[in-house]
Amino acid sequence: MLPRPDLSPLLQIYFLFRQSPGFGDYSATEKLKDAPPDFSHIRCPLCRWQPQKSSRWHCSDFGLHFGCGTNWNTFDTRGQCPGCRYRWQWTDCLRCFRSSPHEAWYAESGD
Ligand SMILES: [Zn+2]
Ligand SMILES: [Zn+2]
Repeated sequence: MLPRPDLSPLLQIYFLFRQSPGFGDYSATEKLKDAPPDFSHIRCPLCRWQPQKSSRWHCSDFGLHFGCGTNWNTFDTRGQCPGCRYRWQWTDCLRCFRSSPHEAWYAESGD
């Protein structure tokens, strides 16, 4: 085992910057999470209904999942309930009331 050298001053500055808020140390996934979803590219794969920012889904009992009762816009969180962190694989359409895989709601470009 080699002895660990102390951090070089340059590395220390690097870590300092990494810790300061607002330095732009956001990974691509965090950017995706923070960005408001583009609802124009989201639609029901079955009836093409487009949800609005004000659309709300309800965290209810589903299979082995015990619903926590939270109401939220499931496309703000990519299908994850903010109340209990349960990730919904299926999303009900609020117009035709049929379920589709959450990922299927995101339209491909040109669709
Ligand atoms: Zn929940
Ligand atoms: Zn639908």
